[in-house]
Amino acid sequence: MNSHTYDYEYLDGNAAAGELSNIFTMGVTAAKGQCAHCGARKRFAEAHLYMQAPGVVARCAVCEHVLLRFVTARQRVFLDLRGLTCLIFDKSQLVESGR
Ligand SMILES: [Zn+2]
Repeated sequence: MNSHTYDYEYLDGNAAAGELSNIFTMGVTAAKGQCAHCGARKRFAEAHLYMQAPGVVARCAVCEHVLLRFVTARQRVFLDLRGLTCLIFDKSQLVESGR
C-alpha cells in the first residue's frame, strides 16, 4: 500500500468553486501575504512591484525575495505564487454572490 494514500473520501476540485470564487472577488492587494523566504506578513499592496520584466514581479518589502510573478501570453495568464506561504483575506471584504 502506498504510504501517501489517505482513507478519507474526497471530492474533485470543482467542489471548491464556490468558496474560491468568493475569495478571488476580494481585493488581493488588501490581503496580507506571508513571504515564503523570511516569513514577513504584510499587506500585498506594500510589496515592491517590478514591471520591467516580460511580466510583473512582486518582491517582499522586507527581504526582496520574489513573492509572485505573472505573465500574460496571448490568451493565457501564468501566475506563480511560490514565494507566498499564504494569502490572508479579511472576510469583511467578501462579496457574497447573491446567496
Ligand atoms: Zn521576505
